[in-house]
Amino acid sequence: MAQTRTAAASTEAERQRHTIRIQRVAHSRAEGVELTKVPFSSVMSDHMLLAEYRDGAWQEPSIVPYGPLPLSPAISALQYGISAFEGMKAHRSPAGDLLLFRPWENARRLNRTAARLAMQPVPEAMFLEGLKELLRLDDRWVPPGDEGALYIRPALFSIDESIRVKPADRFYLVIFTFPFGSYFAAPVDVLATEKYVRAFPGGSGNVKPGGNYATALIADQEARDAGFSMVMWLDGLEHRYVEECGVMNVFFVLDDRVITPALSGTILPGITRDSVITLLRDAGHTVEERRIGIDELVELHRQGRLRECFGTGTAAVVSPVQRIRYRDTDIALPPADSWQVAPEARNRLVGIATGRAPDPYGWVDRI
Ligand code: PMP
Repeated sequence: MAQTRTAAASTEAERQRHTIRIQRVAHSRAEGVELTKVPFSSVMSDHMLLAEYRDGAWQEPSIVPYGPLPLSPAISALQYGISAFEGMKAHRSPAGDLLLFRPWENARRLNRTAARLAMQPVPEAMFLEGLKELLRLDDRWVPPGDEGALYIRPALFSIDESIRVKPADRFYLVIFTFPFGSYFAAPVDVLATEKYVRAFPGGSGNVKPGGNYATALIADQEARDAGFSMVMWLDGLEHRYVEECGVMNVFFVLDDRVITPALSGTILPGITRDSVITLLRDAGHTVEERRIGIDELVELHRQGRLRECFGTGTAAVVSPVQRIRYRDTDIALPPADSWQVAPEARNRLVGIATGRAPDPYGWVDRI
């Protein structure tokens, strides 16, 4: 995944290639907004980045006041879901700088999603430079590092006005942001479902089209109606192997080993997942990436060998799971306040991402 330096260097080299037109708001809406208290995604920052692909080329991006876009009802993003997105965060360092965490990985994943949906890729330099310019402009929206972060939502979608089912040839890239408060991820109960699948071989589970999330909603809703916080997804063929947990990758601690499902093509390659694996290995843990059967987990739990289970993702970083229901069996984990690995992974990652700990991996991009 890494190639950190290369990405940063090429970004510098290509910096001059993109002239970004900027139209500032007359008055910032940030005044009076309690950045870490507003409900998640309820108040957007002042500006958004907008770039259009047409006539076979990306046009120069612009930064404009955040607001609605005039769009035809015929666009194929609406009709056929030709739409991809990413999720990232910017943190404020103790010195006051803005920090991005491995943002080139999001740019590359967006382009892998684009390729899967026969969409045009977004030039990495345009994405990263445009994003940084947007963050410089909306600096005041980024909360203090120990209180919260700025959530960043890039989306790439077709604006092709055509009802024919075909690869689109006009797109928008938009990037908008909003502030949110860091929260303590309370341990959750999850339901392993055999009724619905999130992904299957040859499908789109390893990328991020909006449609993946639309078709998962009913499973999530039914899990919530049954008293669980989210679904634990099993593989699409045998409904036997654990793949993901809600919109997070999943880890287990068994005896003195950490295990996580191997990236099989049906699992989203999470940037938090990759970072957690590296951090735990470098801290001396054995981390295995392999197939994990739900029946194996039931048996390990029966033997008292299953110590921790947690999800990983950009928003919550590390989310403890306290109970997994599979058919009529409950896998109840030991109390989360006794865990070692999940808090260690979280603290190490958050330390680097917020600039409070050294960054030996070159993961942090300082704006
Ligand atoms: N799995 C799914 C299905 C997701 O949507 C996400 C969030 N992007 C993740 C895992 C975690 O990925 P990341 O660590 O890159 O946020």
